[in-house]
Amino acid sequence: MFKNFLPDHMFERFDDVTPEFLLEQDIKYLLIDIDNTLAPYEEALPNERVVNWFAELEKHGIKSVLVSNNHADRVELFNSKLGLPAFADCHKPSPKRLAEYAKTIGAEIEKTSALGDQIFTDVWGAKKIGARAIIVPPIRDKKTLFFRFKRWLEKPFIRKYKKLHKEK
Ligand SMILES: [Mg+2]
Repeated sequence: MFKNFLPDHMFERFDDVTPEFLLEQDIKYLLIDIDNTLAPYEEALPNERVVNWFAELEKHGIKSVLVSNNHADRVELFNSKLGLPAFADCHKPSPKRLAEYAKTIGAEIEKTSALGDQIFTDVWGAKKIGARAIIVPPIRDKKTLFFRFKRWLEKPFIRKYKKLHKEK
């Protein structure tokens, strides 16, 4: 059970996840979260770093699909500059839709990883469909009590990840 919440890799920011690293890990398909992974909530459009990073992924034959729990208007506007397969209201960590979205890019699950900022949606959802999970710290968190509570709940898993990867 514990390992369903344990990310396989952790990076400081999304574009530290390089095509070289992904190919080394035999990851060819990415299920990518938007909010706080690629951009803070209040940024409607992807910045240059995001655009360049996706261009690099594409150049290396890595296929991406945007999977967001946010609404269609947010996802469509954000994706208007990227033109990726993209899905809103994904109900992560529910596995049913996530598995369907993975299929839209022809993903082989054993070569697939989620990339997100939340343990209980991005990591857990990926694990439920048998994919791997890469996590980055949230770019800029909401300051609500609910969000702070969620982050507090995530801490043991982040600690465990750091411990495991230090010992290697
Ligand atoms: Mg997020």
